[in-house]
Amino acid sequence: MLYTSTRDKSVKVTSAQAIAQGISKDGGLFVPETIPAISKQFVDSLVGLDYISRAKKVLALYLTDYTEEEIDMCVSGAYAKGKFSSDKVSPIKTIAEGKNILELWRGPTCAFKDMALQLLPYLLTTAAKKTVADKTIVILVATSGDTGKAALEGFKDVDGTKIMVFYPNDGVSPMQKLQMTTQAGENVAVCAINGNFDDAQSGVKKIFTDKEVAAKLDEKGMMFSSANSINWGRLVPQIVYYISAYCDLIENGTIKNGDEVNVVVPTGNFGNILAAYYAKKMGIPFGKLICASNANNVLTDFLKTGTYDRNRKFFTTTSPSMDILISSNLERLLYHLTDESAETVSKWMTELNTQGKYTVCDKVKALVTELFDAGCCDDKETAQTIADTYKNGYLLDTHTAVAVKVYDEYVKATGDKKETIIASTANPYKFSAAVLGAVAEVPEDADEFRQVELLRETTGEECPEQLATLKGKSPRFTDCCNKEDMINKVYDMLGI
Ligand SMILES: *Cc1c(COP(=O)(O)O)cnc(C)c1O
Repeated sequence: MLYTSTRDKSVKVTSAQAIAQGISKDGGLFVPETIPAISKQFVDSLVGLDYISRAKKVLALYLTDYTEEEIDMCVSGAYAKGKFSSDKVSPIKTIAEGKNILELWRGPTCAFKDMALQLLPYLLTTAAKKTVADKTIVILVATSGDTGKAALEGFKDVDGTKIMVFYPNDGVSPMQKLQMTTQAGENVAVCAINGNFDDAQSGVKKIFTDKEVAAKLDEKGMMFSSANSINWGRLVPQIVYYISAYCDLIENGTIKNGDEVNVVVPTGNFGNILAAYYAKKMGIPFGKLICASNANNVLTDFLKTGTYDRNRKFFTTTSPSMDILISSNLERLLYHLTDESAETVSKWMTELNTQGKYTVCDKVKALVTELFDAGCCDDKETAQTIADTYKNGYLLDTHTAVAVKVYDEYVKATGDKKETIIASTANPYKFSAAVLGAVAEVPEDADEFRQVELLRETTGEECPEQLATLKGKSPRFTDCCNKEDMINKVYDMLGI
C-alpha cells in the first residue's frame, strides 16, 4: 500500500517514508491511497485476542512495507505488560445503558496521547532504518501540555533519537509543568519559553524549516522529525483501539458481530475521531460519529453548516486540550470525501490560510451530515455532567464530560439509543481543579496537590501513582529562554 498527499496526488511514498517525513513537502498530509477493507470474519478472528495481537493484525493492513517481525517488535514494545495500568490496555466500561466508556488514558502520562505516542518511537526508528539509515532522529515538540509529556515518555532512552520539548512558561497547568520538568531519560531536554503556545509553535516551525540548521544537523548525522498529530504514525495506532473496542463489546456480550454501534469523541485536532472514521470505512459497523466540542465549537458549526470559520473568539476552557481553532486532521477527511480531489482540498486550505474560512460543496456537506453528528457544551455544563455522572458512580475528566454531555443531547434529540462507545481521553486527576470544583467546594488556598488530596478524599478514586509521586519532586529542567534563543538551546542539547 502506498500513501499520497492530500494536496498533490502525484506523491507516492511507502508508510515508512510517510512516517519518517511526517508531513508532505507540498504542505499536505499523508493519506493511504486505499483504505483496507476488513470482513466480519476478520473481526471474529480478533475477538478473544489480546490488545497486542489485535494491533499487529490491524497495523499489518496499513504498514505493508514493515515486515511481520518489525511490526511485532514495535507493538510488543509499545504495549508491553506494565506500561498501561490495565491488561486490556484500553478497557471499556459500561456506566449506564448504552453508554460504554473507552478508557484511553491508562498509559504512562494518563492522557489518550499515550496510545499513539508509545508506539510512534518504534514506528519512527524502524522507518528511519529503512529510509535514512544511521541518522539520529531529533524530535522537536512545541506543546500546550499533554503532547509534550506523552512524547517525552515515548521517546525517552530510545536509541537513535533525541527529543526536546518547548512549552509556554505560563501556559500549562502546574501538574503538566511538573510532569515535564521532572522527566527522566538520557536523550531528553525540556525548556520553557517566555511567550505563549503560538510563540513556541512558530519558533519550532522556524527551526524545522531553516536550511542552515538542517545542513548543520546533516553534517553531524542527524535529522529533524515530528511527533505531532499530523504524522500518520500517530493516527494509525488510534484506528486499532476502535476496532479493539468493538471486539470487546462482542466479547462481553453487549453486542453481536455486525450490530451497529455509535461513537462519541471529545475533539480538538480531529485526529481521534478521524481514526474512528477509518475504522468505519474499513468495515466496522459504526453508526453515527458524534463530534463533541467545548466552547471552541468551530467543528460543531462546520459539521452542521458546511462552513469552516476560524474567525471567532478563542476561549480558554476547563478542557484545554480541545481549545483549538484549526483542526488539522480535518484535511484528511475532506480528501476522502471529495473522491480524493487534491485540487479541491488545496483550494479550501488556501482559503483557510488567507481568509480564515471555507465552505465545502453540497456533495461533501451531504456526506458529512450522513456520517457525523456534532454538539458542544460550555464549562458550566461540563461541570454539571461531571457532578451528575459521579452521582451514578463514575468520575469523568473534563474532556470526557464534554463528550458525555453531547451524547446525552444527541439521544434526547434523536431517540437513537444504540450501544455507544464514548472515548475517554484523560484521567480526572490530570485536571484536578476543575473536576474537584464540579463535585465539591474548593478552598481558595488549595494548591494543585491539595486539590489532588481533596479529590481523593471526596471521591475515594485512586490518583495514578505517576501523578501522585510528582509531589515534592524537584524539577530537573529549569531553563527558560526567549523565542530567539530556542535554536541555541537545541544546539546545546545536541552538543553541536
Ligand atoms: C489531545 C486531546 C484531545 C483532542 O484529541 P484530537 O485528536 O486532537 O481531536 C481530547 N482530550 C484530551 C485529554 C487530549 O489530550
